[in-house]
Amino acid sequence: MSQIKANDNAYIAHTYGRFDIVLTHGSGALLYDENEKEYIDMTAGIGVNCLGFGNEEWVKAVCEQATSLQHVSNLYYSKPDTQVAEKLCNMTHFSKMFFANSGAEANEGAIKVARKYASDKYGQKNYEILTLVNSFHGRTITTLSATGQDHFHQHFDPFTPGFVHANANDIEDVKSKINKNTCAIMMELIQGEGGVLPLDYDFVKEVAEICQQNDILLIIDEVQTGIGRCGSLYAYEQFDIQPDIVTTAKGLGNGLPIGGVLLNDKVKDVFGPGDHGTTFGGNPVACAGANVVLSHMNQELFDEVKRKGEYIKKRALQMPHVIGVNGLGLMRGIVLDGISAIDVVRACIDSGLLLLTAKDKVRMLPPLIITDEQLEKACDILEEVLKAW
Ligand SMILES: *Cc1c(COP(=O)(O)O)cnc(C)c1O
Repeated sequence: MSQIKANDNAYIAHTYGRFDIVLTHGSGALLYDENEKEYIDMTAGIGVNCLGFGNEEWVKAVCEQATSLQHVSNLYYSKPDTQVAEKLCNMTHFSKMFFANSGAEANEGAIKVARKYASDKYGQKNYEILTLVNSFHGRTITTLSATGQDHFHQHFDPFTPGFVHANANDIEDVKSKINKNTCAIMMELIQGEGGVLPLDYDFVKEVAEICQQNDILLIIDEVQTGIGRCGSLYAYEQFDIQPDIVTTAKGLGNGLPIGGVLLNDKVKDVFGPGDHGTTFGGNPVACAGANVVLSHMNQELFDEVKRKGEYIKKRALQMPHVIGVNGLGLMRGIVLDGISAIDVVRACIDSGLLLLTAKDKVRMLPPLIITDEQLEKACDILEEVLKAW
């Protein structure tokens, strides 16, 4: 075993089941291990590295910012965070944003906005938030409480009260679980960690309508689906809704930690001085990189993402053991006929392909800039592995 693996086992808490490779560098959608073995990366650091590895513009912006001013705290003004916020607001219907450092923190921020909005307007009792069964919203105690998966709910009692879970795509269940104390409904449009499960268009539209009619805030968790991943800046655009709050993270950073809570007109001034904060929020280096990410977000890229996603779908459906392909754009879940997804992923590593799982599915979240040749080779490798099963 290499010294790196030995030290990891000795000194890093064992919260992760790592695959047996040490990665050292990357370029575009290719990664290399300590033996210079090449892999096609269909993981993008779990939906993070949307521009791939070593994007020159991103590296330059990050290095220049690190050289001039790496951090100032939120006691002072600085430029990179204002640029990201202005860009994101101009590209969407949102009016303001709060900067966090991760997806979970962005969701914590959204939950706090919703509760303060309701308590300012209706009083302290209006704290209930409805989320969906099988959702994933993060690993902090409160975002775990929001997460509708029982297997995450072991060992960590007591949880934050005020969360109720309804079944996805079951509008009657949603209706039966909201009441006058409900302040928000929070959901992913494609449940990522839950198994790449898309919500039905009509269900989403109806939830949005219920929210509007009852002054319930609609929070869409776009931590995984956002920043071009599904073939639009945010997935909600494809559901023809205008959420009150959207949370964003993963792809926005392209590798540096960043998160954001996007706030529409109704909630843009709910937070006042002292209501919320974080030391690193809006960090200049992370934001300098995010500015480059946002400058790449345009219709041409979104069309490419859709086209590549359709290619994956078409190819995968022709492979043995594949009985379905879920998802949108370059967020794909491959449904297998009962064979083990994690075993398939392990076998692909040997053949030079990195994939993810999501529950019992093989999940693909490649860098958005993956080339057609790389995508074709990735599909060839997966096909070979499945043919030999
Ligand atoms: C990854 C993810 C999170 C958590 O993000 P972290 O940066 O790991 O805290 C929250 N929601 C969704 C939908 C995610 O995919």
